[in-house]
Amino acid sequence: MVFGLPLATNPAYLERKYRISNMPQIHPKTTPIYQTSVFTFEDLNALEHYFEQPGQSYMYTRYSNPNSDELAEQVNALEGGAGAVVTSSGMSAILAAILTLCKAGDHVLCAEEIYGGSSTLLSKELTRIGIEVTFVPPASIYSLQPFVQPNTRLLLVETMSNPLLQVTDIKRLALETKKQEIKLVVDNTFASPIITKPLALEADMAIHSVTKYLSGHSDVTAGVVVCRHPDDLQRVQQVMMVYGLNLSPFESWLAARGLKTLRLRMRQHSSNALAIAGFLQAHPKVEQVWYPGLESHPHHTLAKEQGQGMFGGMMSFRIKDDREAVNRFMQALRHIPFAPSLAGVSTSVSYPLGTSHRSLKPEQQQTMGITAGVIRLSVGIEEPEELIADLEQALAEV
Ligand SMILES: *Cc1c(COP(=O)(O)O)cnc(C)c1O
Repeated sequence: MVFGLPLATNPAYLERKYRISNMPQIHPKTTPIYQTSVFTFEDLNALEHYFEQPGQSYMYTRYSNPNSDELAEQVNALEGGAGAVVTSSGMSAILAAILTLCKAGDHVLCAEEIYGGSSTLLSKELTRIGIEVTFVPPASIYSLQPFVQPNTRLLLVETMSNPLLQVTDIKRLALETKKQEIKLVVDNTFASPIITKPLALEADMAIHSVTKYLSGHSDVTAGVVVCRHPDDLQRVQQVMMVYGLNLSPFESWLAARGLKTLRLRMRQHSSNALAIAGFLQAHPKVEQVWYPGLESHPHHTLAKEQGQGMFGGMMSFRIKDDREAVNRFMQALRHIPFAPSLAGVSTSVSYPLGTSHRSLKPEQQQTMGITAGVIRLSVGIEEPEELIADLEQALAEV
């Protein structure tokens, strides 16, 4: 034997393996990590059982694994779907959803205000394999007739947009997509199912970057597609398997662990954010605040009704339109780092003009309202007084 390696010929290793797997009294309270790429079969009868009784046993981790199944089941229960498929990232979840519903020659509608990765995937990559895209401006999103073609299959939108938190009326949109006979796919990352459940509002699929609120601790990259229809679910599973979009056992385990506190975290994210939005709105150096929980937000009433009275942890605000002022503000923050992501338990700031909206033309940035003074805040679950104190002393440096 190679020294130190538990080779199958090592009698002590074989004995221990046999003992653990045959101990009837082992009942771990949490799901162990099944960190294995493949599962063994007792004999050919067990192999037949695997094919005859799907979901009863496991064969190969790219097809399914107890940890990714656990995560999928838990997200599905929260979203209220027919089933869910977890994937290696939010991007692969979006890819799986689109490839499930579209083939070459088909056409996709996509909200203009969408995550940059989603719009690049559609406009730069999927067009190369023959899937066309049209971006729909916010003003036209509820009247799709002028954009729909005979080959249009779906509309992709987000529950709340980045960075200005424009809220989509999912129920109203679902009526419109049904009328146009296309599917509605909702990226629910910013809201989470605690705040909005798109499938209950008749969307066909809900997708997430699990990287954000669902896992919640800034230590996982993952995605999920939740389906309202069992037929779609089977197709998503097939696409995930053959394109190799699966999530690893360890990442699944971490995400499932984070998910256990989602409800608690979303409450604290939301109440902290509401307190901070109020503070910022009253601050003389802050010119505008975008948070759906504020009555001044154009979609406040909709957000309140659709969001169970919670508005989430994301907001943006504008100080004077001067990059250097923003830089001084960020340098002065003591506890809030700059991080171009969101939804972790600890608060961070980001700069849309320098990150997510960097590649847009200056006119586009101006039309969207994303100017040099706009700062995005991902509010964490710390004590709100500590966050406000840090923001206050940094604003004094502007
Ligand atoms: C981050 C994000 C994505 C992409 O997710 P990844 O996990 O980074 O692949 C998609 N949509 C939204 C709204 C996001 O915030």
